[in-house]
Amino acid sequence: MQLYELTVQETVQGVRSKKFSASEVFEASMAQAVACESRLSALITLTVEKGREQACAIDAKIARGEDPGPLAGVPVVLKDNICTRGVRTTAASTVLGHWSPPYDATVWGLLQDAGALLLGKGNMDEFAMGNTCGRSSFGYTANPWDLTRVPGGSSGGSAAATAAGYAPFALGTDTGGSIRQPASFCGIHGMKPTYGAVSRYGVIAYGSSLDQVGPFARTIEDLALVMQVLARHDFRDSTSVAGKGLDFSLAPAALKGKRVALVKDFEGFSLAGPIQEAKKRVLAVLKEEGAEIVEVELPTVARYAVACYYAIALSEASTNLGRYDGVRLGYTTGSSTDVREMFEEVRSQGFGFEVKSRIIAGTCLTDSSRSEEYYIAATKVRALIAREFEQAFKKADFILQPVTPELPAKIGDAHEDAIKGYESDLYTLPVNLAGLPGLTFYVGHSENGLPVGLQLLGPRWSDAELLSAGLVLEGYLGKPRIATGGVSE
Ligand code: GLN
Repeated sequence: MQLYELTVQETVQGVRSKKFSASEVFEASMAQAVACESRLSALITLTVEKGREQACAIDAKIARGEDPGPLAGVPVVLKDNICTRGVRTTAASTVLGHWSPPYDATVWGLLQDAGALLLGKGNMDEFAMGNTCGRSSFGYTANPWDLTRVPGGSSGGSAAATAAGYAPFALGTDTGGSIRQPASFCGIHGMKPTYGAVSRYGVIAYGSSLDQVGPFARTIEDLALVMQVLARHDFRDSTSVAGKGLDFSLAPAALKGKRVALVKDFEGFSLAGPIQEAKKRVLAVLKEEGAEIVEVELPTVARYAVACYYAIALSEASTNLGRYDGVRLGYTTGSSTDVREMFEEVRSQGFGFEVKSRIIAGTCLTDSSRSEEYYIAATKVRALIAREFEQAFKKADFILQPVTPELPAKIGDAHEDAIKGYESDLYTLPVNLAGLPGLTFYVGHSENGLPVGLQLLGPRWSDAELLSAGLVLEGYLGKPRIATGGVSE
C-alpha cells in the first residue's frame, strides 16, 4: 500500500500516530499527481510549494505535541472556483487572467484549520457551466477509467483527481449536478449538501441560489469526516443557516425499516442498460437490508425542472458575471480608448462561447419586458417543485434516482447537441432547485469498464442520514477503487 492510496481516515490516523509524516504523505500524493497529469490534465495549478509548507507546519505541530486537527496531513484538491489566498484562482476562464485572490474562501479556511494540505486546483467547465469538463479554457480533463471519455463536470478535475489517487478527497461545487455527476462518471462518491449547510463565501458564483460546495471521496466515512469540518454557520454568507449543528457520526443500521422511493414520473424515461442494472442491484440490497420500496410522484419535476433550472441559473449568472469588466480584477486589454469599448473587448475576448451564450440568454430572460414570462415564472415553478418534494418526503425517507441517463460520452461527442447536454442534467438539477441534499454513491463497474453510480436524495438537513444510508450501501457494494487509467502500465 502506497501512502497516496490511503483514505482520509487512514491518513489522519497515520499522521497523528507518527506512523508516517504529513510531508511523506504529501510527496507521495504529489508524485502520483505528477505521474498522471500528462494523461488526465485534472489540475489547472499544482501547488507544490504551498502544500509542502503546510505539511511541514503539521509535522512541526505534531513534534511540539499540539493537536494538528481532524484532517491533519490530508492532501486536497480544490475546484478552481474556490478562492485560495495567494494561489491563482481562475474558474477555468481567461477573463480572470492569473488572478490571485487576497483572501481564502471560508471552506478552504476551515480545511486549513483542520490540517489539510493543498495539492492543487481542479479543472472545471468555465464558471462551472457544463457537465463534461470540456469547456475549460485550460483544455479538457480525461476520465481516469477511460482516457477517451469525459470525466463529467463541471467539477471534473476534482473528481478525476480523487479517482486517480492524487488526494483522498477534493472539493467541488454543485449548482445543478456538478459534484454528483462527475462523481458517478469517475467511480467515486460525491455529496451535494443541503443549501445553506456549507458557506459559499469566497466561492466564485454561478447561480447563487443554487450553488453549494461539497466533497468527493473514495469512502462514505471520508465524506462524513469532511462534512463535519465544512458544515457550519458563516456570518459572511447570508444564506448560510445558523444553529443546525449537524452531527456526522454515522449510524450503522440506517436503512432498516426506512422507506426508499422510486419516482413514478421518471419510470418511462430512457436509461442506459448498465444504469438499469445498477438500479436493480441496489434495490435488491435495499430489500435485503430491510428497507421498504415505495413510489412517489414528482410530475412537475419530471416535466419542468430542466427548463426551470436553466431559466434561473442563467438569469443569476448574467448578474453574477457582470463584475468581470477588466477594471476590478483579471484579464484586461490595453488597446481600447474608451471604457465602453474596453468592457466589450474584455468580455468578448475573456469569456468562452458557452459562457457568453448563457450571459446573453440570462440577460434576455430577466429583461423587464420578458421577466414576468420567464424568470418570474421560473421562480413560481421552482416553488411548486420544492412543494412536490416536500409532499414526496412525507411518504418516503429517501428517494433513489439515477445520476444521468447515460454513461460518460466520448470526448468530442459530448458537445454536439447542446440541448441534449442540458437535458442530461434532469436527474441532478431538481435537487438544487429544492435546496435538498443529494449523495452520489458508487455502485460498480459496467462490462466495458466504466463506473456506474446512483443517487440517494433526502429532505433538507438529512445530510447525515443520507451518508449513514450510503455507508450501509457501501458495505454491500464495496468501496471505490483507485483508477489506474492515469498512469502508464
Ligand atoms: N450542467 C449544469 C449547468 O451547466 C450544472 C452545472 C453545475 O452544477 N455547476 O448549469
